[in-house]
Amino acid sequence: MTVAGTGSVVEAELVGGRLSCPGCAGRLGGWGHARARRVRVLGGWCWIRPRRVRCVGCGGTHVLLPVLCLLRRMYSAEIIWSALVAKAVSGAGWRRIGEGLDVPGTTVRGWLRRFAGRAEQVRVFFTRAGLEVGIDLPGVAATGSVYGDAVAASGLLVAAVRQRFTGSGPDDGLPPLWQVACAVSGGRLLFPGWPRP
Ligand SMILES: [Zn+2]
Repeated sequence: MTVAGTGSVVEAELVGGRLSCPGCAGRLGGWGHARARRVRVLGGWCWIRPRRVRCVGCGGTHVLLPVLCLLRRMYSAEIIWSALVAKAVSGAGWRRIGEGLDVPGTTVRGWLRRFAGRAEQVRVFFTRAGLEVGIDLPGVAATGSVYGDAVAASGLLVAAVRQRFTGSGPDDGLPPLWQVACAVSGGRLLFPGWPRP
């Protein structure tokens, strides 16, 4: 499960019973921690130790992954999303994108290939989510590539989220695009089998 906060924020949500099971909607309680891991973020590294939780309803356990991470990826969602956007906006190749982000080019190539292989499904997923959340959204102009269209659809989704939830948090509650893309995918943006048809 992807959660917005880390540490004390997540603890407060658990204690307050504000996190519910994605399987049965039962209340989630603390259940130890997952192993600590190092995440490469823009400008350095950070350590996270995700909370493990257990559902009082079905007994299922889950790991709460902060919204900065994608499943099974060492690089932060922000870095990965930046690479995908760079490809969509400038058409730059994986070598140049990698140099710009200080990430090995072959790693970037892997991200771009994985995303390109699911671009149309991601576009549909983002668009549907945007229409579900938004109130009165503008159309999205075609960019001429399925890749660009998928990234453009994420813009629509963010517009929808902002339209509906503006004013609900710090910074006027406006989440950056990469956070929304990470959150709606449950951290599975590049994970095998996402999005499900
Ligand atoms: Zn449950």
